[in-house]
Amino acid sequence: MALIRERDGRRLHVKSKLMGQSLISRSFIKEFKVAPQLRLFPDVTVVKIGGQSICDRGIKALPGIVKEIGANKQEHKMLVTTGGGTRSRHIYAIGLELGMPTGIIAKFGSSVSEQNALLVSTLLSPWGGIKIGHDEIMKLPTYYAQDCIPVMHGMPPYDYFAIPAAGWRIPVHRTDVGTVILADLIGARNCILVKDEKGLYTEDPKKRNDAAFIPEISAAELLKRDFDDLIIERPCLEILQYSEVIDKIQIVNGLEEGNLTKALKGEPVGTIIYKK
Ligand code: ADP
Ligand code: MG
Repeated sequence: MALIRERDGRRLHVKSKLMGQSLISRSFIKEFKVAPQLRLFPDVTVVKIGGQSICDRGIKALPGIVKEIGANKQEHKMLVTTGGGTRSRHIYAIGLELGMPTGIIAKFGSSVSEQNALLVSTLLSPWGGIKIGHDEIMKLPTYYAQDCIPVMHGMPPYDYFAIPAAGWRIPVHRTDVGTVILADLIGARNCILVKDEKGLYTEDPKKRNDAAFIPEISAAELLKRDFDDLIIERPCLEILQYSEVIDKIQIVNGLEEGNLTKALKGEPVGTIIYKK
């Protein structure tokens, strides 16, 4: 390992292409050549079970979707994540009223999405559902070898370090974001968000009857159209745009049987948000 002393004799570097760089310089980053990102598990599909949209409906929605996941297990390797939902919103509202900082609110969100991971993994146990933590991500092949369906909470582990956003103290990186980051991390085959609407509309279809359905759209176009409300957390769109390994996010209605199966097969059901 070559050590290099700076000319003025002060700093000692280990020789590398990043030696002495701030790692912030835009021009340096632009010129620096990196290897294409490895796709760690390109045969795995990440499937998020919505918190408010699915888990909170309990017996009216979960048994059906859990059965569909189980029925697809032989054909598709799935990594299931869970949202938080109504209980998150309840504690967020109390926390905001009491002046809690973003990091505390994020911690609340993590623990609620973890409750739903326990709920979903328990329901999936007849099919080998097993609740895992973030440190288990690199052990995925072991779970599939043992015929298991791993279930993880969707909240990304920023926790106390959740990034404060302008004028708003609910963390902007919640369980959709955690799921999309996870799909990028593992180079997933597809990233499917299971919610309670057909997909993306021009407005929230629960509030506007005249909202128009959008079967497919690019992340750039969606950002440009700047809708007031979305079915997916906004930062997901930028993560998709910058991803080297995932090229789409698919949103399907989990209240209708068969949609998840179609999406797992690569069929154009629901809304597909493309990278390009
Ligand atoms: P999750 O349970 O996965 O966290 P959310 O409840 O946060 O899902 O988001 C899904 C909800 O987003 C839908 O039930 C829908 O009412 C609402 N929504 C808001 N804006 C839109 C939109 N533009 N298109 C479709 N749904 C929207
Ligand atoms: Mg949500």
